[in-house]
Amino acid sequence: MAKPIFKYNPKALRFERQRYNLRMFIRKFFPGTLISAGTGFIFFLLFITVFETPDEKRLKQEKAALSSDLEQISDSIRFYDNNLDKIAMHDNHQYRVIAELDSIPDRLRTAGYGGANLYKDLSGKEHSDLIIDVLRKLDLINKRMQVQNMSFVELTKSLNAESERLRRLPVVTPIHNNDLTRLGSNYGYRINPIVGGIHFHKGIDLTAPYGKPVYAPGAGTVTYAGNRHNGYGNYIIIDHGINGISTLYGHLSKIIVKEGQEVVRGEKIGNIGNTGLSTAPHLHYEIRINGKHINPANYRMPVEPEHYDQLISNADTITKSLN
Ligand SMILES: [Zn+2]
Repeated sequence: MAKPIFKYNPKALRFERQRYNLRMFIRKFFPGTLISAGTGFIFFLLFITVFETPDEKRLKQEKAALSSDLEQISDSIRFYDNNLDKIAMHDNHQYRVIAELDSIPDRLRTAGYGGANLYKDLSGKEHSDLIIDVLRKLDLINKRMQVQNMSFVELTKSLNAESERLRRLPVVTPIHNNDLTRLGSNYGYRINPIVGGIHFHKGIDLTAPYGKPVYAPGAGTVTYAGNRHNGYGNYIIIDHGINGISTLYGHLSKIIVKEGQEVVRGEKIGNIGNTGLSTAPHLHYEIRINGKHINPANYRMPVEPEHYDQLISNADTITKSLN
């Protein structure tokens, strides 16, 4: 209940009770309230302008840290991207060249990455540009790594196939260099010493002392080991399992492998002899591709005696390990 207010009436010479109205109320109370509220409000504005709340301060620090982190991540991505450049360069100009594979153009190494609308949900926010830039670079690196991985898988397959091909190719002379006394007869037309006349000599004759070992010049499977009395005497045929290549070893004194046996390069398969149509101990050596004779001289790789010893030693080790 408001306290009654009395006012002196000079005409009536008495105090009269005043009635409250809005104007009186505002005139009496509002100026003080307004000044107090206005002053408070001004102080509030000053406070929030000059001073930060703990939460505002923490958020501001977190934003600064986030921005710094994104910059560091961007730098790291640049480092990895540069390394991928180097790997791609070696891949195209060295590894794939060695494996006889076509190089992969840069446009194919980055094809299919990103997309116009891939990052649209991230746009329009604080740090959006930086975040989208980082994600875009990560996507590109991911794409490049996928292509590089596929390239390495292809390289491995190709080099394994090449390694297997080289393991099987009959590229060395089947007689130890120290045992080889001379190259008797070459591939081609020559006079037959037994029956006379000119005949096509389907292989080369490698002369060596009787009983000296004959070695497989490349890995393969023995498809024949015996004597059919067809002039070759005791002979062996090895199928090398690549490009239809097979080799024949004739006039042997002894055969020490069996049909169906797997042999490796440098493995002993028989001994020099003089069986069949032969005038002196020697090895008649033929190479056939899909049944057609070729000149074995084209497949002979010069091997130093010490390397030949190593080759035979390796073959012996492999043979033992397979037993
Ligand atoms: Zn011959």
